[in-house]
Amino acid sequence: MPTHGLLFDYEFCTNCGACVASCKVEHNLPNGQNGITMFGDGPWKVDEEYWNYNWYALPTDLCDMCADRTAAGREPICVHHCLANVITYGPIDELAELLKKKGKQMLVVPTYKPRTAYGEFVHKHNKTDDHVAVHLEVSGTGTAEFGAHRHDGRVGEYTSEGATIEDEQA
Ligand code: SF4
Ligand code: SF4
Repeated sequence: MPTHGLLFDYEFCTNCGACVASCKVEHNLPNGQNGITMFGDGPWKVDEEYWNYNWYALPTDLCDMCADRTAAGREPICVHHCLANVITYGPIDELAELLKKKGKQMLVVPTYKPRTAYGEFVHKHNKTDDHVAVHLEVSGTGTAEFGAHRHDGRVGEYTSEGATIEDEQA
């Protein structure tokens, strides 16, 4: 029986695609395959004051809810990289409680079909030294610096000089 799921607050999803890209890199998925896909609807007018314009990030049958990461106590990579912070991972019961608190949310319980059909899922690339998440920050002076996207146990800090803080993984 499934125990965990993903809660998406699609009211604030911006269709940035960070979840799609980070999932694809984390799982080394080839062209044509994704662990999560974007769907959109709108904009179209509901009435004089309101527009329907929604983006939905939906896990595919390749979503294993980042089993390797969550087994190590880390959040799924899509949760980590969601720029709008609208994806929550956790036990289904806890997510259902969050679901009661506001509308425009979706509770998704992905099932990794290939694992069911073919056995254990094995990541295809070495994740011990290439898990680097950075974004580009442009300061008021026009100087571009790299900075860690969000804190993650395996991501160090980066500046224009390169990596400056050692990997914090215990
Ligand atoms: S939980 Fe992991 S496998 Fe599932 S969509 Fe998010 S990044 Fe992809
Ligand atoms: S990363 Fe977050 S905000 Fe961006 S498309 Fe995915 S769910 Fe939406």
